[in-house]
Amino acid sequence: MSIESSQQILLAPGPVQLHPEVQKILALPMIHHRTPAFDSILKSVLENLKLLFQTTQPVYLQTSTGSGGMECLLINVLKPQAKVLAIVSGKFGERWADMAEAYGAQVHRLVVPWGLAVQPQDVESYLKQNPDTDIVMTQACETSTATSHPIEALGQIVARTKALFLVDAITALGAFTLPMDDWSLDGVVAGSQKAIMLPTGMSLVSFSKKAWQVIESNPTPRFYFDIRKEQAANLKGETYFSSNVNLIRALDFVLNQIKQKGLDSLFKVIHHRAEYTRQMAEVLHLAVYSKAPSDSVTAYLLPPQTQGTQLREKIESTYGVTVMGGQDQLKGRILRIGHMGHITSENLHQTTLRLAYALNDFGFNLNLEAVEQASKTWLEKHKEALNAFN
Ligand SMILES: *Cc1c(COP(=O)(O)O)cnc(C)c1O
Repeated sequence: MSIESSQQILLAPGPVQLHPEVQKILALPMIHHRTPAFDSILKSVLENLKLLFQTTQPVYLQTSTGSGGMECLLINVLKPQAKVLAIVSGKFGERWADMAEAYGAQVHRLVVPWGLAVQPQDVESYLKQNPDTDIVMTQACETSTATSHPIEALGQIVARTKALFLVDAITALGAFTLPMDDWSLDGVVAGSQKAIMLPTGMSLVSFSKKAWQVIESNPTPRFYFDIRKEQAANLKGETYFSSNVNLIRALDFVLNQIKQKGLDSLFKVIHHRAEYTRQMAEVLHLAVYSKAPSDSVTAYLLPPQTQGTQLREKIESTYGVTVMGGQDQLKGRILRIGHMGHITSENLHQTTLRLAYALNDFGFNLNLEAVEQASKTWLEKHKEALNAFN
């Protein structure tokens, strides 16, 4: 059997592998952002983004990482002393709750055990007891535990209250369906190096009408992330600050591809990568860690005696596959494999195979030929669905 370790594979839940066409676009000569050539690209991007967000509202681009987009959502609607319900089920939930607190909000943390999804009825009963809640915020996918939350159900619950529902969809929007308008999401943030399939450096945000009513009257000071300035600039066909020309040109390609092939076919491909990875857990004698596994990232739970940190490093250094480990209470206990970005069937196959080799190096006793066969059979059977987008 062959493991072609010459080919490096990056299957982190961000940053992700880039489409070859995106790599070419990123290498193009620079153009100025105040030119007719760029104006038409920006126009097409801003229009097509509505398709991706499944909204009629404008979507805004910002040159920042995803966390900047989270901050933008927050500070545009966060009034001084606002009451915030933060769903905290992992590292990113913690970060957002801390951020709200840093801006002076009164934050109640609804702590969900790692690896579990929040129960919608817990949010519902909290909001019944605390009808003065201004903001409810959650991750759509908590990347640190590879878990998705029931966003549709939460959206229905929050929509019946005065609160705004903010969703960190950095590993969700573009990976599985998240119709902003239909699910009553008031603020959504996506991130370039995750489900948007580009390099790091851009966040994308959109607000509902309900949110805009708050934005207009919100006295909280803001400057770089003041979405009103961006809105005014976009209406003139520009971005307020210098445009991120490289990423916006690459985004144009990504969006045109989605428009051409359909959002559903993108979600289908990613779902199949996730299904494959979950199926392979059994073949590798590992368990899937999350009780509500996301389609954008899978966490394999390692047996307790495994030296997880060393194993992850070995997979990378000896076998050329970058996957991520866990943080805090999950340090050394899980391996996280991303399903976003440009991923071929061969990448999936090689990852499983090289993982099997590494596991055997760490005392597993896997039958490598059986692993290879199981992987091949699955991939062959779902070939069409897997290649629908590439
Ligand atoms: C990666 C990630 C972030 C942070 O994004 P940065 O680009 O690193 O700032 C926030 N939330 C979730 C769910 C993420 O996966």
